[in-house]
Amino acid sequence: MNHEDLHLWSKRAADWAFDYHDTLRDRPVRARASPGETAAKLPATAPEQPESPEAIFADFKAIVPGAMTHWQHPRFFAYFPANASPASMWAEQLANAIASNCMLWQASPAATEIEQVMTGWLRQALGLAGHFTGTIHDSATTCTLSAIITMRDRSTSWASVEQGITGSAPIRIYASAQTHSSVDKAVRLAGLGQQNLVKVGTNADYAMDPEKLDAAIRADLRAGYLPAGLVLCTGGTSIGAFDPVAACIEVARTHGLYTHVDAAWAGSAMICPEFRPLWDGVDGADSIVFNPHKWLGAQFDCSVQFLADPAPQIRSMGLRPGYLQTQGQEDVTNFNEWTVPLGRRFRALKLWFCLRAYGLEGLRARVRDHVAWVAELAEMLRATPDFRITTEPRLALFTFQYAPEGGDADALTAALLQNINDDGRIYLTQTTHEGQFVIRMTAGSFDCTRDDVKTVHQVCTEYASQDQP
Ligand SMILES: *Cc1c(COP(=O)(O)O)cnc(C)c1O
Repeated sequence: MNHEDLHLWSKRAADWAFDYHDTLRDRPVRARASPGETAAKLPATAPEQPESPEAIFADFKAIVPGAMTHWQHPRFFAYFPANASPASMWAEQLANAIASNCMLWQASPAATEIEQVMTGWLRQALGLAGHFTGTIHDSATTCTLSAIITMRDRSTSWASVEQGITGSAPIRIYASAQTHSSVDKAVRLAGLGQQNLVKVGTNADYAMDPEKLDAAIRADLRAGYLPAGLVLCTGGTSIGAFDPVAACIEVARTHGLYTHVDAAWAGSAMICPEFRPLWDGVDGADSIVFNPHKWLGAQFDCSVQFLADPAPQIRSMGLRPGYLQTQGQEDVTNFNEWTVPLGRRFRALKLWFCLRAYGLEGLRARVRDHVAWVAELAEMLRATPDFRITTEPRLALFTFQYAPEGGDADALTAALLQNINDDGRIYLTQTTHEGQFVIRMTAGSFDCTRDDVKTVHQVCTEYASQDQP
């Protein structure tokens, strides 16, 4: 296959993509595939001889779409969205054609500078203070890992960068039980050990209790531990919990801790000023992560980290060996020094296209609609016999149970969820909350409509009524 073939086949791919999106509503949201089914359709070894684009494309069409869960389906209500706007897909097509490695300014000046300008646009759009600068990572997990590595090295006055952490008292990180498992993973990967992640107690609203945070730090200090950092949750993955950012950062500051705010999902909503009270005090954070790839339409992967001061993170992670020096341009920004991998994709392009094609008002309107429609659905389910709202809507997320009188609510809810997802019109996932099996409902697909959200009520009540004797 050469560039002339690519010219033809990329047009065919674009035609296919149009039809795919045009027919998404008719496809079952969740893949109807059993484990091993796709692998069994592929030859056991790579071909020795070149194959034709016709054959490759035919197999793609025959094997792939039917065995995919359709994340861009307007009735995808599972996990969190990974929404992709058409403008973002267009930008990815162009970034794909240029195929640069954007590791250094010199290796891709436009990519570096567009990244600087786009993170600046987003900083303003989220209403964050002017001292924050941003960079783009692949995922929130990597942003949180970067922040926790910075907490670790800062707590040892950077001795750990050269010597490792063998000589130090156990380094402690604090987070609430509602924070994402990426915090646990980061603590493990940073070599701190799971038991040094202190899960601070929450209040009745599942928000971190700042007094319990203070007590936990003081107890650790008395016991000879080294408190290093605090991770706050702004829109937790399970039920959307929000920690009181201002009060917790104040406690962390008193004890000299570095602070990181995980707003991977909810951060996108902060383009709407009315939601910003949910993270009031965020300007006091050292690091903030949010994923435009979840709810803003700049498709996966695109995770933005804002840093009050990039210097500490660069001190932990930034290396500039001779072969990466940019002669005579030592003061340019080389974003690989801010992030884990050396190689970097041109992710800023899709932000640029997306922000321009829809404007902040277009993106705000979507977020507001999703929040309003999800609230409306929660009320419909609350008013339906045998359904119980287990956690109230927080932005566009709530949880519920199917709990008919005298039945085993956990088992009935699990059975209902399975029926719903086998049906295919909608896709929902579950979480465990207070030991109960609950269904999570969140909306955020780019093309989702009010009717799409209402379908959840229709499908739930249909299967619930079949369950009646
Ligand atoms: C989705 C999510 C993450 C992980 O995001 P990735 O980008 O997939 O690593 C972390 N924290 C929260 C709150 C999330 O919702």
